[in-house]
Amino acid sequence: MKKSIRTRLVGNFMLIIVITVVILQIALSNAIRNYYYKNVEDILTSQIEYSTDFYSRYFSTFTLDDIVMGDVDLFFKYTTAQVQLLSLDGILLMDSLGVVYDEPIKTPDILAAQNMEKGVWTGNVHYDDSLVMAVSLPLRNHEEAIGIIRFITSLEETNATINRIVLLLIFLGAVVILISGIISLLLANSIVKPLLEVTRVAEKMADGQLHVRGEVKLEDEIGQLSNTLNYMAEELLKREQIKNDFISSVSHELRTPLTSIKGWAITLQGDDLDTDLLKDGLKIIEKESDRLSKMVEELLDFSRFISGRITLEKDTFSIRETLEMLEKQYMPRARDNQLELLVNISDEVDYFLGDENRIKQLLINLLDNAIKFTPAGGKVYLSAYIKENNLILMVKDTGIGIPPEDLPRVKEKFYKGKNSKSHSGIGLSICQEIVNLSNGSLEIESEVNKGTTVKAILPIKEEN
Ligand code: ADP
Repeated sequence: MKKSIRTRLVGNFMLIIVITVVILQIALSNAIRNYYYKNVEDILTSQIEYSTDFYSRYFSTFTLDDIVMGDVDLFFKYTTAQVQLLSLDGILLMDSLGVVYDEPIKTPDILAAQNMEKGVWTGNVHYDDSLVMAVSLPLRNHEEAIGIIRFITSLEETNATINRIVLLLIFLGAVVILISGIISLLLANSIVKPLLEVTRVAEKMADGQLHVRGEVKLEDEIGQLSNTLNYMAEELLKREQIKNDFISSVSHELRTPLTSIKGWAITLQGDDLDTDLLKDGLKIIEKESDRLSKMVEELLDFSRFISGRITLEKDTFSIRETLEMLEKQYMPRARDNQLELLVNISDEVDYFLGDENRIKQLLINLLDNAIKFTPAGGKVYLSAYIKENNLILMVKDTGIGIPPEDLPRVKEKFYKGKNSKSHSGIGLSICQEIVNLSNGSLEIESEVNKGTTVKAILPIKEEN
């Protein structure tokens, strides 16, 4: 895998851990080294102070020359360190190991001692392979400096001890890095595994296997992603089903007039044809062809709607006239179905800025539904009124109603109810599109066996 989440997670995690461990190691090693060196320095200091004290107290009659010449072991007695006596200008007069320097010594500890202070120095010398530490003090006789005394010790053992501790620290650091590496790998796996699973499922779904479901049962974002994918697949399946139903019902509806046309075409080819039959046949063929074109027109219109290629052609028109015309048109149909059509147009409803044809189409769809889904003896109301700067067009019926579980879906494309009178399932979705284009809304209220009320709420523009 190239730059996977696992590599990135583990990489970043390890980077942080390694940097932290290295910084800690350096800081700890330094602290330990300082601590040990300070210890050595303290020991050397206390020994050198003891010796100089002792000298000032009991041997102050001895000059530096006396000490050197007389080989007085006063300074060597109380220490295992290498002891040097130097003149004030840094010339080595005596060394407990017999080391010889040709030049005056000018290390920082000597310089400090020349300034009457204690000097400490760590460094390399020509007669020892390992690092040494030197502590120097001025040697006083009655408050007057007469020379410099210098204690030197090898740091070989101290350094060996420090190195052992540092090695241990490095080992511990490596263990920490190893353990955190394993933990971060486990952590990354716990994230990556479900992600891979979700990806696998998504790929299958993309491949059309919509019955596959993700099994990730996590409470986190990945679990949520998996659930969303499952939901998506379910919705796709549902839509596919609805679409298939739509296609089959449309095909069915197209077939009926075609069958009739074909039947008549065959009949009309017969030999003993009288003029009446010919006329009847041709009339039916014409009517059925009209029905077919109307259906095709509807389908085309619908496809324009769903692909968003419809715009409203707005103009000011009398909505009152439109409603009155619809009333005239639907009265006979209502009567045929033994329904009562009651129209109520409020006085203030008259001119309106909108697309007359689309609004007519909307009302026709609503009235068709109301008549279709209302059994004989029922009532259908068509009302128009103004409320809060909105034109409300309401179609109400006392029909079979819509079950609550269907209610949220009836406006969906292709959705149709179980009732045998249900058609293609595009009527209400077209209504929805028309009110959407008018910046309005479509409200449906329904109760089973009581009736349905559909309200198209259309905002009235300032221009009106
Ligand atoms: P259809 O072509 O099936 O009428 P619609 O989109 O117009 O499609 O309506 C979708 C479904 O909503 C219908 O199939 C029907 O089940 C339900 N429906 C719509 N209007 C009514 C109504 N007035 N009364 C009862 N059910 C309705």
